[in-house]
Amino acid sequence: MSARATTGRPDPAGRYAGLPKAHLHVHLEAAMRESTLREFCAEDRIEVPPLVEYADFTAFLDAYGLLIGLLRTPERVERLLDEVVADAAAQGVVALEYASIPEKAAAFDSAEAALEFILPAAAAAGRRHGVWTGAIVSIDRGAGPEHALAAARLAARFADRGVVAVGLVADERASPVGAAAEAFGIARDAGLGVVPHAGELAGPEEVRSAIELGVDRIQHGVRAVEDPRVVELLAERGICLDVCPTSNVVLGVVPALEDHPLPALLEAGVRCSINADDPLLFGVDVVDEYVLAGERMGVPDARLVDCARTSIECSFAPDDLKRDALARIGRSADLRQHPLAEQP
Ligand SMILES: [Zn+2]
Repeated sequence: MSARATTGRPDPAGRYAGLPKAHLHVHLEAAMRESTLREFCAEDRIEVPPLVEYADFTAFLDAYGLLIGLLRTPERVERLLDEVVADAAAQGVVALEYASIPEKAAAFDSAEAALEFILPAAAAAGRRHGVWTGAIVSIDRGAGPEHALAAARLAARFADRGVVAVGLVADERASPVGAAAEAFGIARDAGLGVVPHAGELAGPEEVRSAIELGVDRIQHGVRAVEDPRVVELLAERGICLDVCPTSNVVLGVVPALEDHPLPALLEAGVRCSINADDPLLFGVDVVDEYVLAGERMGVPDARLVDCARTSIECSFAPDDLKRDALARIGRSADLRQHPLAEQP
């Protein structure tokens, strides 16, 4: 069931799609269109995997693994990038930071070869569709310390060719964020950002650890809400949480959208961006998430505009692009004029 089916009103006036925004927390392979998934599965004579409902986090990771396996030729990767960027443009995304694990890219002999292909192909798609793109090289926390260091060194080598940050993904209960400290140091020395997943499957202590490591943003981070001191620290330091509400519901981090901590975090002064995480696997795109934040979580329009502004400010996009996007938001942020204010 998609969020669109849930709300029955897919952003009818294009209000949220018209709001310039950055999409900062989205995993490339899982942003595949469902039609493309079906086509690839038919070509490869494999069954289309079940989507949106997963028995546990491992079942979710299995579904993700299947998507990675489908991307077994450069042509498929190029098509994926073009479609993902086109879909982003249609949703008002002006800056797209897509995460991937290059060493898992099935179409290429090495992680290096994967990045050498993906980065220019993403940039070309960006030029075609009018979206700035930056890659986040994900460190797989389940793959051990050598992988973490190798991934960070790889990201560093591509720092001036389209990689903007390193991330940290997979089950954080298996390996705490602190285990990646050395890898983060390598990334930082190369001028890259650091944007780990934390405070999703593990609690607020992991968010605190991430803050203490000096990260730029935290992907998810929503379980910070369980410790008011960590919430305060986030607000004080201005560290952005790249929040993905539907993902948190599907994976059981929160019981329902109505219970999601996004409104409380915003109320406490924590900067948050709104994101889709794995659009194909969770049945939502980034505009759906804005709609749901408003309709199901009660986030007022003005706060949604703030989230869009935060997403731009906290992205690694070039300054001139940010200035332009913020000016466009600013011009429409007077709620009497803003299309979001015309809601019934
Ligand atoms: Zn994620």
